[in-house]
Amino acid sequence: MDEKLAKLKKWIDESDNIVFFGGAGVSTESGIPDFRSVDGLYNQEWKYPPETILSRTFFDRNPEEYYRFHQAKLVVEGAKTNRAHLRLAELEREGKLKAVVTQNIDGLHQAAGSKNVLELHGSILRAYCTRCGRPYPADRMNHCDGVPRCESCGGVIRPDIVLYEEPLDHNIIERSVRAIRSADVLIIGGTSLGVYPAAGLINYYRGDKMALVNLSETPFDRYADLVIHEKIGSVFSQV
Ligand SMILES: [Zn+2]
Repeated sequence: MDEKLAKLKKWIDESDNIVFFGGAGVSTESGIPDFRSVDGLYNQEWKYPPETILSRTFFDRNPEEYYRFHQAKLVVEGAKTNRAHLRLAELEREGKLKAVVTQNIDGLHQAAGSKNVLELHGSILRAYCTRCGRPYPADRMNHCDGVPRCESCGGVIRPDIVLYEEPLDHNIIERSVRAIRSADVLIIGGTSLGVYPAAGLINYYRGDKMALVNLSETPFDRYADLVIHEKIGSVFSQV
């Protein structure tokens, strides 16, 4: 095992107050493509960038097109938890990990068994009526033709995710800040920390054991106490 991994393993072994902050890279290793990635194929099929389609204004004006995108790009059938999800759930069961703060909306941390998951951007596994608030399961959105409607009031059903132009949930933010501020070890994984305001949360960390695990460099590398440029699943299978 190399020196950096050994250091991370030591931090994990000696701590009972670890917090994990994760992003898209945690899910891409489960076969879920980052919906923000725009390639040549994307431009042939979609007239707008993902940030536009996933905005509140767009959802309100073009719910049909939103749902076409939702079904094609956000819903990934058969995605499985990977070593990172499973190890994090195990650390929580052992009483070592206090919270997973995630930017992902796929519910894979819970599928792996994690309980205290703070979903900054919500979850595509939940839906609700925009008019009366009635909750709906995800299949209502995943297998509909056109726009799914509420059985009670006929309102448009929407996913319980934070769309662009919408604020993050205040309660989730507060719990994330509290967890990060009091953490002994903060592991940041699978994120280039480019999406605000979520990325700003790591500024609340007060300790001296901040590990950043990401395949490529990030603007935060120089602030971290330990930087590992490797796949997150591979790292968590060794610590
Ligand atoms: Zn309704």
